[in-house]
Amino acid sequence: MRVERFVLNEMGTNCYVAAPEDGREAVVIDPSGPMDAVERFLQEHGLIVRAILLTHGHADHLMGLEELRGRTGAPVYVHEADAPMLTDPAKNLSAFMGRPVACRPPENLWRGGETLDTAGLRVRVLHTPGHTPGGVCLDIALQRGELRPKIVFTGDTLFAGSIGRTDFPGGSHETLLASIRRALLPYPDDTVIYPGHEEDSTIGDERRFNPFLQEEGGRK
Ligand SMILES: [Zn+2]
Ligand SMILES: [Zn+2]
Repeated sequence: MRVERFVLNEMGTNCYVAAPEDGREAVVIDPSGPMDAVERFLQEHGLIVRAILLTHGHADHLMGLEELRGRTGAPVYVHEADAPMLTDPAKNLSAFMGRPVACRPPENLWRGGETLDTAGLRVRVLHTPGHTPGGVCLDIALQRGELRPKIVFTGDTLFAGSIGRTDFPGGSHETLLASIRRALLPYPDDTVIYPGHEEDSTIGDERRFNPFLQEEGGRK
C-alpha cells in the first residue's frame, strides 16, 4: 500500500492519496487544496483517481474538491449527515473564514458500515460522529492480499495525542469519545492512523498516551 500525505491550505489540513503498491488507480481522501502538488504526484506516478472520499464536511477538508473533481471526474463520497455542508458555506464554516467554499452535491452518500471496492482497495466506512454529525473514519485495505499493519484514516476524530474539537455546530465531546471507543480502540495496537491534521500515529500509542483516552487504557 502506498499512502502519500500532502499538508495543504492555511489550516495545514492533510490530504492523502492511497493506492495499491503496484496499481495504476488511487483514491484521494480529503482534497483540502490547492491540489497542484497532489496533481503532480498523480501524474508522476501515472495514477488515475477513482474516488474522492471525505472524512467530514468542514471546509478545510474540501477546499480543493471542485478542482479535483474537474480534473478527474471522480465521484465524491461523504456521510449523509455531513452532505449538506458541501453546498453551504455557513454549514461548512468557510463563510466565517473569509473565503466561502461551495461545492456541488456529492454523488454518493454513506450511512456508515458500508464497504466500497474501488481502485484495488477495500474501503470500510466507520461512522464516528462527535466532531461533526457525519464524521467517518476510513479503514482502507487491499482487495487482494492481506495488509499488515491495518491502516485507518481518522479525519478530525482522532489525532496523534489529541481528539477533534467539539465546539462547532453539531459537535459533542461525549459522542466523539464514544465513537472512538466503539469504532477505533478495538483495532490492534500496530494499526496506523492517518489523521486530518498533523502526523500519523498508531492505535497502541493513542491507547497508551492520548490524554483523552487514558481512562480507556486497560480496556479494549
Ligand atoms: Zn473538521
Ligand atoms: Zn480539519
